[in-house]
Amino acid sequence: MTAPDHAPSFPSRLPNVGTTVFTVMSALAVEHQAINLGQGFPDFPCDRKLITSVNDAMLADRNQYPPMIGIAELRNGICQKIKNLYGHHYDPDKEITITAGGTQGILTAILACVSPGDEVVIIEPAYDSYRPSIELAGGKTIAVSLQVKRDPNGQVASYEIPWEALAKAIHSKTRLLIINSPHNPTGMVWQEADLDRLAQLVKNTSALILSDEVYEHMVFDGAEHHSVASHPELAARSFLISSFGKTYHVTGWKVGYVAAPPLLTKEFRKVHQFNVFTVNTPMQYGLASYLEDASHYLNLPDFYQSKRDFFRAGLEKTQFKLLPTPGTYFQCVDYSALSIPESKLNEADFCQWLTTKVGVAAIPVSAFYDQPTESGVIRFCYAKEEQTLSNALQRLQNL
Ligand code: GLN
Repeated sequence: MTAPDHAPSFPSRLPNVGTTVFTVMSALAVEHQAINLGQGFPDFPCDRKLITSVNDAMLADRNQYPPMIGIAELRNGICQKIKNLYGHHYDPDKEITITAGGTQGILTAILACVSPGDEVVIIEPAYDSYRPSIELAGGKTIAVSLQVKRDPNGQVASYEIPWEALAKAIHSKTRLLIINSPHNPTGMVWQEADLDRLAQLVKNTSALILSDEVYEHMVFDGAEHHSVASHPELAARSFLISSFGKTYHVTGWKVGYVAAPPLLTKEFRKVHQFNVFTVNTPMQYGLASYLEDASHYLNLPDFYQSKRDFFRAGLEKTQFKLLPTPGTYFQCVDYSALSIPESKLNEADFCQWLTTKVGVAAIPVSAFYDQPTESGVIRFCYAKEEQTLSNALQRLQNL
């Protein structure tokens, strides 16, 4: 018998999915030696203390499997943090699970509660993992769009929560609603009244909520992050997702967590144990001891606000129109009024041109929509050294 020279073909589970835009744009940036303000990650080092804590854990031989749900020290620390910041007590044993980053937490939560045919409501522009995760679970994505507010010149001025569309989309068939504040890519932040309004919307339904709060410590101008954990009615039906990568400048470590009431957590862990089983041990010990000092995350808003303000001040000297960014480490700009022919390009082509010809990588906001949606808006990540931002600004100011 001769061996076949190729693998048998099979139907794709995700026929419409290519490589995520963040990976594509980072590769393009490397290829063209562009300054990478595309994919969201810091270009500065994390605190040496955090590295020392992980190193100490490894040297102390904390290198075997941790408990499936994560080490107690880290779950206890998270429990304390959430209690102090948002006033809700999650039982560390029954309600908090350590995950391999936010994205794994999102996929696992979706697989745990969405059955084939279930409706899942998302709000676009939406982080690009939501839709494929729903598809893998066999769910049906119902997308509603943020309302785009325009200025008198027709340029995008801001985004607002589409309450009417949401009210129509959420009904007895809704299994899950995914929300995200601070919001990637727009930087929009939900207010307390928004959570109240959401609670009213879901009150008489059996909809669960997945609240992606990975940018929870990046809310500026003295404002607060409003977590579902601060709202008892919402907390009772929510998976709260967060990420240490974003908070401690270690996106490559891929450690996050999911907090959810016992019934949700029970189902979440059934999937988690056969998905990643558990998350690497020394990182968990390192993070647990670092988390004891709250100043690291309490100082984060000031740290990022000064980067935001620095970047915005530089962008004011360009032809881009700046959108408000009360949260996250992203800045969206409208390029449609730039006095160059490229301002007529669609967002993906504009980003391609900006990366390859101007030397600054950005992300098209259209990548956060399923259906072609062009608003002339692109996203920059300003989680960078001032020098990196200055270099990028110089190039953008020459446009
Ligand atoms: N969340 C990051 C962003 O929006 C990217 C994460 C990733 O590349 N998977 O840029």
